[in-house]
Amino acid sequence: MHPNCDEKAINSHIMQKNGILSAISDDQHLWELSIDHFKQEYAGFKRKGINKIYTFTGFCNHHDSIIFSKIETQGKIDFNDYESCLLFALRTAYNEIWLKEVVIKMQECVIKSEVDIDTWMLEETIRQNKLAIIDMEFYTQAMWNDLQNKTESFNFEFRETDYQEICLNSIYTYDTSQEIMDYQMKYKRDMERPSEIFISYFPYTNKSILLMGYHKDDAQKVKGYVNLFFKENLKKLNRRLSSLISFNCETWVCSNNFYKEKLEGLDSEFFKAMQFSAKNGNERKTFNVDFFKDDFKKNFRSFIDKNVG
Ligand SMILES: [Zn+2]
Repeated sequence: MHPNCDEKAINSHIMQKNGILSAISDDQHLWELSIDHFKQEYAGFKRKGINKIYTFTGFCNHHDSIIFSKIETQGKIDFNDYESCLLFALRTAYNEIWLKEVVIKMQECVIKSEVDIDTWMLEETIRQNKLAIIDMEFYTQAMWNDLQNKTESFNFEFRETDYQEICLNSIYTYDTSQEIMDYQMKYKRDMERPSEIFISYFPYTNKSILLMGYHKDDAQKVKGYVNLFFKENLKKLNRRLSSLISFNCETWVCSNNFYKEKLEGLDSEFFKAMQFSAKNGNERKTFNVDFFKDDFKKNFRSFIDKNVG
């Protein structure tokens, strides 16, 4: 995926393996929310080996090691350093592009297999994912440009929070599904480039780090929202993060302890939460769930019972 490279890609970790992922792994394993489109309830928790989990095939060995060395192998990460923050966002962006390419390939395979189904939905999914990849290129081009010319096209903010054994690297679309739909109805075309926010949240040296970034062109629109994550007290932040992880972001892994305490037995609830979120239309809404409280399991169950059934 490097703009000037045609070497074969290796399996790259979305987040530093030696240090961050290995520090929370148990017997070299972690848990993820795994998507399997061939099942009726297509999301569930899976335990996987650390070499396979949280990886994507995006860069060749050479580029993977030289581009990311600053946040991989050069000692302590400096979150006040623009380039270090940018590298987290760059990797998140390419993982998202890769995920979309996988979806496109899968739909194309189903269409080619000539099973007796209406292909309209599949073709629409392909179309939307291709559009999303084009939108992402706006961000990746700005990132490469920044790396090359030492410019700063993004704003980044970071904050230390209580230590939690969960790693998240995701993009979050600021515009809600409802706003995107309203735009389509009003203007009879797709919204030009929705505004993406890049989020990383991971344990690092006895704390957890929350790192968020957005393109400066989007500052006016998203700044107030992003600032909430950095200005609010920890209690509100925990709820905000919990909503994000439960309802909006799928790209995360956690330790065995975190899984046992917070997630075990909730496969079906998490699947329903994803559906609830897709129907709800307002992805910026925060719900009254809190991963960081001891009674999370009980509360999450009753929230889903009440709102989804
Ligand atoms: Zn390469």
